[in-house]
Amino acid sequence: MAKRDYYDVLGVAKNATEEELKKSYRKLAMKFHPDRNPGSKDAEDKFKEAKEAYEMLSDPRKREAYDRFGHAGVDPNAGVGGGGFGGGGFADVFGDIFGDIFGGQAGGRQGGRSNVYRGADLRYGMEITLEQAANGYTTEIRVPSWTSCENCHGSGAKPGTKPKTCSACNGQGAVRIQQGFFSIQQTCPTCHGTGKVIPDPCTHCEGLGRVKRNKTLEVKIPAGIDDGMRIRSAGNGEPGVNGGPSGDLYVEIHIKKHDVFEREGDDLHCEIPISLTTAALGGKVQVPTLSGRAEIELPEGTQSGKTFRLRAKGIKGLRSTYPGDLYARVIVETPVRLTDKQKQLLRELDVSLKDPRHSPQTRSWMDRVKDFFQ
Ligand SMILES: [Zn+2]
Ligand SMILES: [Zn+2]
Repeated sequence: MAKRDYYDVLGVAKNATEEELKKSYRKLAMKFHPDRNPGSKDAEDKFKEAKEAYEMLSDPRKREAYDRFGHAGVDPNAGVGGGGFGGGGFADVFGDIFGDIFGGQAGGRQGGRSNVYRGADLRYGMEITLEQAANGYTTEIRVPSWTSCENCHGSGAKPGTKPKTCSACNGQGAVRIQQGFFSIQQTCPTCHGTGKVIPDPCTHCEGLGRVKRNKTLEVKIPAGIDDGMRIRSAGNGEPGVNGGPSGDLYVEIHIKKHDVFEREGDDLHCEIPISLTTAALGGKVQVPTLSGRAEIELPEGTQSGKTFRLRAKGIKGLRSTYPGDLYARVIVETPVRLTDKQKQLLRELDVSLKDPRHSPQTRSWMDRVKDFFQ
């Protein structure tokens, strides 16, 4: 059976806001919840379908991947927390839904009675230039994050009041219910697994104890970093639940293509066009480096493609003791758009160059292919 479009599943437009997604999901989840449709395989499927769609679309990164590549861009089984639907069956489904929609942000369910969750890791892709990678770079980034509510200091209770132990689960965060023949432990629907209820919720955060807002972080990118490397900022991911540790933030580095240099490990490579005359007569040629200009002295009769090494003008890698080298490859440029006078001069030059000793490459090439001409 073909997989339905996630937006269709939730019955929302492609440009639906986070709020609309949540609202629609909540409605569907309530309608098809296995608890309300005992024994209905159809309801269970619809419930799972809605849950998967919501999980994908409520994660901005996954949503972007889905918008661009469709179902091929996202793998629902790779989602955070709890191992999807695999072997868990109803228990997982039950536990997850309340965790998900009613404020759980669980980054990894730890199973059993534990209702302390580590926060989710965040990943941030950053593009930098080769110069920034070589010299190091300090910048600020804005990352989406939850911060503790200032009004209630994270308790979720209106200032002056306190959360109470949940009476439905006696503070355990989970209750046992009868599902057919089975007795299943599920996240307590009254307290959503926290073990506490808030009779008088904080109006600022609606009882969640935290508010979502962007935060600014300073990121120091060390000199020598290479494409694809990640910088870990411990504890700057999403906060944990019930005092669980925060996740980490990973800044993933992408180095933009450079106009002049190509990087290969710690070495740099570039090409330098030189004139026919400079190649023949020799002379000084300027070579760009990441730390300004350098000069190389070309010998007389430099051939096209000859590579010159500039020691230590490469990049000092993160774990390197010495910087790499810069390899400058000279390319002899054939002159174009010649005037009649210039053409005439070249023809005269050509005649005077007829002696094969002026063209060592042609001479040795002729020797090598002589057989074919016979
Ligand atoms: Zn409870
Ligand atoms: Zn609050």
